[in-house]
Parts: sequence; structure tokens; C-alpha cells
Amino acid sequence: MSKRILVIGAGFAGMWSALSAARLLDHVGRNDVEIALVAPEPELHVRPRLYEQNPNGMKAPLQEIFKAVGVRFVQGRVEHIDVANREVSIAGVGADTSRQRIGYDRLVLAAGSRLFRPQISGLDQHAFNVDQVADAAQLEAHMHGLASRPKSAARNTVVVAGAGFTGIETAAELPARLREVLGEDATVNVIMVERNAAIGPDLGEGPRPVIKQALTELGVTWKLGSGVAAIDAKGVTLESGERIEADTVVWTAGARASELTAQIPAERDNFGRLYVDRNLKVKGVEGVFATGDCAYAATDDDGNFAMMSCQHAMNLGRSAGHNVAADLVGEAPIPYSQPKYVTCLDLGPWGAVYTEGWDRKVKMTGGVAKALKTRINTEWIYPPSADRAEAFALADPQRIVVA
Ligand SMILES: Cc1cc2nc3c(=O)[nH]c(=O)nc-3n(C[C@H](O)[C@H](O)[C@H](O)COP(=O)(O)OP(=O)(O)OC[C@H]3O[C@@H](n4cnc5c(N)ncnc54)[C@H](O)[C@@H]3O)c2cc1C
Repeated sequence: MSKRILVIGAGFAGMWSALSAARLLDHVGRNDVEIALVAPEPELHVRPRLYEQNPNGMKAPLQEIFKAVGVRFVQGRVEHIDVANREVSIAGVGADTSRQRIGYDRLVLAAGSRLFRPQISGLDQHAFNVDQVADAAQLEAHMHGLASRPKSAARNTVVVAGAGFTGIETAAELPARLREVLGEDATVNVIMVERNAAIGPDLGEGPRPVIKQALTELGVTWKLGSGVAAIDAKGVTLESGERIEADTVVWTAGARASELTAQIPAERDNFGRLYVDRNLKVKGVEGVFATGDCAYAATDDDGNFAMMSCQHAMNLGRSAGHNVAADLVGEAPIPYSQPKYVTCLDLGPWGAVYTEGWDRKVKMTGGVAKALKTRINTEWIYPPSADRAEAFALADPQRIVVA
């Protein structure tokens, strides 16, 4: 192999980048380019499902599909990106303490995002979250342990910090999950705390009445207009001074792009995402593409930009993979375009709400929307089967998923 495309990350964007790059190389008959993908595990972690039960089960293996399309998997964690010398340093994971350097001709940065943890007293020590598989598993183990604690209102209370997308989905699940642990007759309290004046501040007016109705029927309450000031083992103190006694606090407020984005000498947005052009090449940096939650990418010509979402990460991945390979072998790029934007918000046992457009017009609610959410979460976002032809068909950057 004389050339190498290196993809960092095996999430939605990284997986689809690798498959799409392999697809283009196959189509143009180039077998002198290696596609290597580096990640801690050869598996896709299905982060959009981590508010559900059994987070340890939210992983999909990738080794077979990578084998089928000829992607080399490199196990490890990238620590350093040397853009000038086109090389990355990789540390082994777990018991593997080795270090290695791998050069690249083209790089795709698809290392995703992490939960935003502001400097709030007690946040790191006392708050749970549903950001990564291990985090969500820790919350689940803690919840199972509640049953063996002495009965108290605090034991039966969960504070969900943040009433955005993840906070709402998490809160909607919790009353039923608490009752499963504490008994069907237990009085449980799930309280969302949101600094903004409205639930779902970024979700807009459209779906808000449905969200409020669902949460009310599920018994979830909320406190608006005051953020969390401090967290300790016994609960939270709000900026207003109000105190909520709770054995469980779940922090859900925001995400930031992987810290690896800071190693690329280029402009980033407030979330740490790299500014990319329409082909997803990082602006001003030769040979480097960014995708998924690492990219600040225009979705259309109307001024809309990709959200940190699985919906965008999958298409961004297919585009980045095609374009990085096209750039390397001198084929035409296909500019990233994803004009249709939808939202499907899980509202626990109540159902879901589905909206269309950037102004989020409600199109479906309740059980019908929940059926769609279930399909999205159990079928559409999972990797394709380990079949080369099928994977290449699905990796087409021009495939329209949401019509
Ligand atoms: C609880 C929750 C609910 C969500 N719900 C929805 C939803 O309903 N709809 C929706 O569209 N989106 C949702 N999202 C957002 C969605 O999960 C992310 O936007 C999506 O995962 C981004 O995909 P990605 O491939 O860019 O990054 P990720 O999925 O984060 O994948 C990043 C990959 O990079 C790897 N990596 C990280 N650092 C390194 C390193 N240093 N070296 C090597 N590899 C590295 C990781 O191990 C992983 O394989 C939700 C997220 C959460 C946490």
C-alpha cells in the first residue's frame, strides 16, 4: 500500500467514513490505498440509547464489517496529532501500555464529543450521566442499589440537571425505572432543573406543549430559571439557593467536541467543532477532514448547520469518507448536503414526539411517534451487516435517509 487514509473514531461518523471511503476506492478500482481506523474498541457505541435500560448492551460489533470491506482496525486511543508531519501517536488501551505512531496521507477526525462538565462544585464526584456506555452503566448500578438503602424521600428522588434533548429523554424514563427498583407503589420524584426559562430551550415552541403534557402525565416535575450551583452526596443546591435532597443527580447539560480538535491548527466554534468546507475538509489545513460531532458543517445554503446528533453524524460520515478518498485519488468530491432536519424525542412510556424542519413542526405524537423512535433506535442507526455489497450501497454519500 503506498497511501493511507486514517480515520480516528468508530462512532457513527467514523464508521460511515471508513465504509464510504472503501466504497469509492472500490468503485474506481484503487487497491493501493489503505484505510485504517483507530478507536479504543472495534464496536459502535449507540450513544442515543444510553438513557435506556441495559446500557452495556448498547454496543454493535464492527470487526466483521471492517473485514468485509477491507478496513484495518487499529486498537488504541489517539493522543497526539502532528499535522505538519502527517502522523498520529496512539496509546494502547486497557492492559496494553504500548505506544505507536502511524502516518497518514489523509486524516478524518471523527472522535465525537464528550459531556460538557463546567466547574460546578461536586459535579465530578457526585453526579451521574448518560454520556458514554460506562457512565450510563454506573447510573444503572447505582439505581439498582437504591433499593437496599433506608427509605427516605431523597432515596426516591432523582434530579436531572438540564432540560434539553438528553435531559428530557432521560427524565421521561426515570419514574418507571425507579418504580421497578423501589416497588410499583413507591412515591418517586423526578425533578428536572433548567437554568433557562423554558423546558427544551433549544427545541423551540413547536413540540413544547406535547413535551410538557407527556412529562406531567409521567409525574416528572421541573424547576426553571435557576441552574445547579453545587452537588453533594445528599442532593443539589440551586443558584437561587433552593435545596433539593436527592440520592441521585444526573447531569445532562451539553456536549463538547473531542479535545483532539484543539490539536488541529484551525478555527473552532463554541462547542469545539472545527470549521469545515462543503466537502468537510478542515478550512486552512491540508489533508485533514473533520466529521460528526467534530465538524461545524453547513447542511444547506440557507444558513443551517449540523447539530451534534447521530442524524447528522451518519451523513457527515458518508460524505467525509467519500471526499477524503476522492481528494487522495483525484476523483470529484460530492459536497455534503442534508437539507431535511427532523427530531424524534423519546418521551418514555408516554410515547414520543416527531417534528420536521428547523422550526420543529409537530407531525406525530404518542404511540405512533414512539414506533418511529423505536425503529430509528433499534434499526436505522445500527451498522449494516457484514456484507460488502450491502455496506457499499448503504455508504453512498448521496443516499437520502430521511426523505
Ligand atoms: C444520551 C444521549 C442521547 C442522544 N440522543 C440522540 C438522538 O435522539 N438523536 C440524535 O441524532 N443524536 C442523539 N445523541 C447524539 C449522538 O449520540 C451523537 O451526536 C453521535 O454519537 C455523534 O457521532 P460521532 O460519530 O461524531 O461521535 P461518537 O458517537 O461520540 O463516536 C466517537 C468515536 O471516537 C472514538 N474516540 C474518541 N476519542 C478518541 C481518541 N482519542 N482516539 C481514538 N478514538 C477516539 C470513540 O471511542 C468513538 O468510537 C444522543 C447522545 C446521547 C449521549
